[in-house]
Amino acid sequence: MLPRKAILNAKPYQPGKPIEEVKRELGLKDVIKMASNENPLGPSPKAVTAIRKYLGNINRYPEGGCFYLRQAVAKKLKIKPEQLIFGNGSDELIELTLKAFVNEGDEVIVASPTFLMYEVASTAHGAKIKVVPMRYFKYDLKAIKDAIAKNTKIIFIANPDNPNGTYVTKYELENFLKDLSDETIVFLDEAYFDFAEEQDYPNGLNYLEKNNLIVTRTFSKAYGLAGLRVGYGVSSPEIIKYMEAVRDPFNVNSLAQIGAMGALKDKV
Ligand SMILES: *Cc1c(COP(=O)(O)O)cnc(C)c1O
Repeated sequence: MLPRKAILNAKPYQPGKPIEEVKRELGLKDVIKMASNENPLGPSPKAVTAIRKYLGNINRYPEGGCFYLRQAVAKKLKIKPEQLIFGNGSDELIELTLKAFVNEGDEVIVASPTFLMYEVASTAHGAKIKVVPMRYFKYDLKAIKDAIAKNTKIIFIANPDNPNGTYVTKYELENFLKDLSDETIVFLDEAYFDFAEEQDYPNGLNYLEKNNLIVTRTFSKAYGLAGLRVGYGVSSPEIIKYMEAVRDPFNVNSLAQIGAMGALKDKV
């Protein structure tokens, strides 16, 4: 029995081990986990309170389209609700983008080194992967632009980047987006948006109108809700519509939705 061809090349993502397992294995008492950039301060207390209150309702399926969370995030970001899609962690949005837009053999561009999920998911999906090395730990946007081919469907950029900790500036991003092909989507991963404080750090949402851009954010890091698995993507209603077509109906569980709504009332 053979899997799809692409799966023969797939390497599963290696997450850091759970704290309890490391303690058991090495006989340690105090272990601090930093492998997945979890928030060491714990979860948003408003999320925890909201989830406690909701626990008696988990016999029901979740709200399929994240109705209330969608309203809340749209209001906060001053965008239309139909510009949003929610995922089981923002990781799922990588999958949904690949599913919606990449035919077997189409190309994606990833930097190296960067967040591994872009390459892991693209490989399993059957995409051809073009790797462009980082330059002095920064995205080499010129080399990435030069690497774009006719069948390049997605370019993955984490801003700020993990693990490099560098960011693409407003000026660099604007230059990069100029004259990009209509066939290419820029997947701008803003998992660490809330941690970026520099004046020249660009808010990806400002560039949605004129570009094929998917901006993703997550409740996992700043809000400390990594265990719940909830994140979202923002794009044009048209791109979102295609991604919605390949989304599982109940992909974000009810406690994650309730927790995220609680967290939104918290300051980050
Ligand atoms: C942590 C991280 C994510 C994943 O976030 P989830 O919403 O928990 O899936 C995405 N991108 C980068 C760069 C990250 O470091």
